[in-house]
Amino acid sequence: MVEEVAREAAEAARPASASGSVIAITDLSLTFQTADGPVHALQDIDLSVDRGEFVSLIGPSGCGKTTLLRVIADLEQPTSGEIAVNGVSPDAARRARAYGYVFQAAALYPWRSIASNVALPLEIMGLSKAERSERVKRNLELVNLTGFERKYPWQLSGGMQQRASIARALAVEPDLLLMDEPFGALDEIVRDHLNEQLLQLWAKTHKTIVFVTHSIPEAVFLSTKIVVMSPRPGRVYDVIDCDLPGERTLDIRETPEFLEIAHRVREGLRAGHSYDD
Ligand code: ADP
Ligand code: MG
Repeated sequence: MVEEVAREAAEAARPASASGSVIAITDLSLTFQTADGPVHALQDIDLSVDRGEFVSLIGPSGCGKTTLLRVIADLEQPTSGEIAVNGVSPDAARRARAYGYVFQAAALYPWRSIASNVALPLEIMGLSKAERSERVKRNLELVNLTGFERKYPWQLSGGMQQRASIARALAVEPDLLLMDEPFGALDEIVRDHLNEQLLQLWAKTHKTIVFVTHSIPEAVFLSTKIVVMSPRPGRVYDVIDCDLPGERTLDIRETPEFLEIAHRVREGLRAGHSYDD
């Protein structure tokens, strides 16, 4: 049993399947059975994400963004269709600790210092004290929180708390970072700043990131690929390649290339929206 898990873990940790996709989703649907009848949260989803890509999922509330992220993370089971993560099932990928998950709320424990919040998953993994403190140090540095190790979450601003939760997700050294509207609750100035930092972090770590957002500028600024979703049933309406230069600052948002992509995203959102509510 242990051997089997170890073997699957090794398989899941192996880089790239034959196709080079970290995530390969084909014809995937998920229907929730509720007291009010079936809810078609996802229908006929096809999506592939390559290693090192930054993919944003954008769409109105209820179009299945969170559900899709949860399917990738093995927190939800599809009703039909196929999904492979690193060439194995999401379950095997999860057991190989392929995922780091960041939510809208930082969800830090208020009675633990920042350092010990970041260390928590590492304690659960059973890492040695030395390894834990090395990883805490390295990942707090990545999110520019060096010097805040001994602070408590409530002593930090919302943006800093969210950076701490990103450090916690990165500390397990996942292949894939899944982020569900991580900056959605922050004001625009803070969000802009975090977007720049996230882009730098992505460049440094070469992680594959799947990022859920409501914000068109955020999606265009961050992504190599934008997946526009539409609701009832949740579908992929458009997939837009975003080939802005790798090194970006916020000024890029004024350029014609940026505005052109933003326009296509907006058109997709408009066309996919049913306006019945
Ligand atoms: P988004 O993240 O894009 O706002 P969600 O993935 O949260 O959308 O939800 C997609 C649809 O599935 C919505 O109609 C939502 O109400 C429904 N849904 C999500 N989770 C459940 C669940 N556990 N049980 C029943 N319905 C759900
Ligand atoms: Mg959601």
